Amino acid sequence: MTPVLSVRDLSVRFRMRGGRHIAAVGGASFDLAAGECLALVGESGCGKSVLASALLGLLPGNAQTSGTAVIDGIDLLAADERTLARTVRGRRIGLVPQSPAAHLTPVRTVRAQLQETLRELSGTPRAELRAAAVAAAERAAFPPGLLDHYPHELSGGQAQRAATALALVGDAPLLLADEPTTGLDRDLVDRTADELRRHADGGRALLLITHDLAAAERIADRVAVMYAGRIVELTGATRFFGAPGPRHPYARGLLAALPERDFTPIEGMPPELGALPDGCAFAPRCDRADDACRAVPPLRDGVACHHAEEAARA
Ligand code: SF4
Repeated sequence: MTPVLSVRDLSVRFRMRGGRHIAAVGGASFDLAAGECLALVGESGCGKSVLASALLGLLPGNAQTSGTAVIDGIDLLAADERTLARTVRGRRIGLVPQSPAAHLTPVRTVRAQLQETLRELSGTPRAELRAAAVAAAERAAFPPGLLDHYPHELSGGQAQRAATALALVGDAPLLLADEPTTGLDRDLVDRTADELRRHADGGRALLLITHDLAAAERIADRVAVMYAGRIVELTGATRFFGAPGPRHPYARGLLAALPERDFTPIEGMPPELGALPDGCAFAPRCDRADDACRAVPPLRDGVACHHAEEAARA
């Protein structure tokens, strides 16, 4: 079956002052099928949101991309801004943004924005707009009593739910949800995650970008772990969260850091993307690092680690 989204060797570099370059994403490859949820996880600054911005054509002017990312025959990395604005954003890719307050139009109420989106993307008749806006709000657990509020009158969590309600309108084949549960309490996290899952179950692909592993465990079919701009493990969610568990030492460390597991943080900090160590970028934090790790490990059989099998047996 043709995937909804096919990403091959996607790389993003930022050109900095003085001719320096920062490699924010390196060689990411994955497919995403209709009805499937792929969770892209990793610590802040690992490149998750840069990858999302590349798919949406929302990178700043000093970014350089290579590779391909194809949806409906359109290579998102090669498409011009007019194509992206008119036929991709909203129509082929829905977005739950990381910064909802910045994404919402500040001078229009949530109701006005929902009704406009319903008219534009779903062709909802004028007479049905009011009821449809209430239904869309309820899907995202946005209180209908706040529909006539402006974005600046909403809390962070309310703005997040308003942005989610807007993103769930329409029938874009891919929904990109970038930290959709930020600022929500646990009940609302679960409710939002379940609604995103239902959206995928309706035949859309869902790319969930999150640092919330509990939300990923709840709804993902597969998990991609990013570290220092690279996907270091790509595997099924059942294997990742259950037995035998992930094979990459960093992925194992992420799980071990959860309060409901070992509550043991990974020592050290992620490297600066502009000053990556030679070889495996995780080596300074990895207790399995040896001479072999002076070479960058390729992603092979779903994991990028020279000692993946020993780490998985530990
Ligand atoms: S390649 Fe080496 S340093 Fe990198 S994660 Fe694997 S064992 Fe650790």
